[in-house]
Amino acid sequence: MKSIEQDNYQDIREAVRALCAGFSDEYHRQVDEKKGYPEAFVDALTQAGWLAALIPEEYGGAGLGLTEASVIMEEINRSGGNSGSCHGQMYNMNTLLRHGSEQQKAFWLPRIASGEWRLQSMGVTEPTTGTDTTKIKTTAIKRDGRYVINGQKVWISRVQHSDWMILLARTTPLSEVRRKSEGMSIFMVDIKEAMQSGMTVRPIANMVNHETNELFFENLEIPEQNLIGEEGMGFRYILDGLNAERTLIAAECIGDGYWFLDRVTKYVSEREVFGRPIGQNQGVQFPIAEAFIEVEAANLMRFKACELFDRHLPCGAQANMAKYLAAKASWEAANACLQFHGGYGFANEYDIERKFRETRLYQVAPVSTNLILSYIAEHVLDLPRSF
Ligand SMILES: Cc1cc2nc3c(=O)[nH]c(=O)nc-3n(C[C@H](O)[C@H](O)[C@H](O)COP(=O)(O)OP(=O)(O)OC[C@H]3O[C@@H](n4cnc5c(N)ncnc54)[C@H](O)[C@@H]3O)c2cc1C
Repeated sequence: MKSIEQDNYQDIREAVRALCAGFSDEYHRQVDEKKGYPEAFVDALTQAGWLAALIPEEYGGAGLGLTEASVIMEEINRSGGNSGSCHGQMYNMNTLLRHGSEQQKAFWLPRIASGEWRLQSMGVTEPTTGTDTTKIKTTAIKRDGRYVINGQKVWISRVQHSDWMILLARTTPLSEVRRKSEGMSIFMVDIKEAMQSGMTVRPIANMVNHETNELFFENLEIPEQNLIGEEGMGFRYILDGLNAERTLIAAECIGDGYWFLDRVTKYVSEREVFGRPIGQNQGVQFPIAEAFIEVEAANLMRFKACELFDRHLPCGAQANMAKYLAAKASWEAANACLQFHGGYGFANEYDIERKFRETRLYQVAPVSTNLILSYIAEHVLDLPRSF
């Protein structure tokens, strides 16, 4: 099954599908069972240049936009894989591309494009502040040409499979800024070096096979040239990255949605109970049809968000709405797929329970559904602020 809309990205789709076809359901299942990292898969994507899609050609990348990047991520999930192992590089890239200096881009981008370095991690969330990002307590204090970092982060993904991390920290205390979104800055952190000199990494075992960690910073020193853009403007910069992240996650959910719909339509057409295919019952057809409609609708909003982002136009509302619609649609598709496989949906060898767990994450992270509703209520509908 495919979208009823044919888009202009069929070349990319076919090429990514061909690469993904080399990594079977069994490969992804085994990585999941071993709680491993899909090294070979991520290496293949890197070598083929897909994870450097957003890097301009002069730095060795493909010079594509978020739209194309989203198609790449969608196809990974559509093939039965999980972009969660590598999507960080796509959304982190925008922060560096849009706000890094020429010197910084010349330093980092060619090595990321060649695969020598991975930029897969972003450290924002903290244990005591959660979604209330402007209250973060991790500080970066400038001293003798370096920034000294102290604090704690939680749920920071792919740290053990990345060379660099983008870190958000407070450079001016909250009490000294005019607006709470001011006074935060973003830094590039050399992960391996940091692990030797003030950053402790503690892995968090979790429901999906997703490498994520608690981080503790104790007087970690970072060279001042690793500050991206202007000091104090980090929150604004990271919002660009977050809009890209939401849109890419929407595309991944759409990939998941089509995967579940493919599996369930095939199964209910073949499985016979009471002397006829179960898919002949409207009680079975309707939830599947409903999920398909929702995935298609989410797809339209995702392309709208991508288009605005690529034209450097405001896209906060569309990125949030795309993420909301797509995460909901993939979850509906996952439920229908599991339900109509009956007991078999629970068997690991069908891969449904794995994808079911994976797609559930997107109701919570990288931004919870409630926070999206709150954003739309306040920023689009002008309702009174609730926090
Ligand atoms: C597997 C995984 C990977 C992650 N990777 C990263 C990463 O790489 N980098 C990173 O920085 N973070 C990462 N995160 C963190 C993720 O972005 C947060 O978990 C998410 O934003 C929610 O924050 P929280 O867990 O602190 O929930 P809280 O802020 O404690 O909120 C809990 C729940 O309460 C509800 N809620 C909270 N406030 C409100 C409100 N005002 N109105 C209505 N409802 C509300 C929401 O439903 C929310 O889900 C990851 C999380 C997971 C689970």
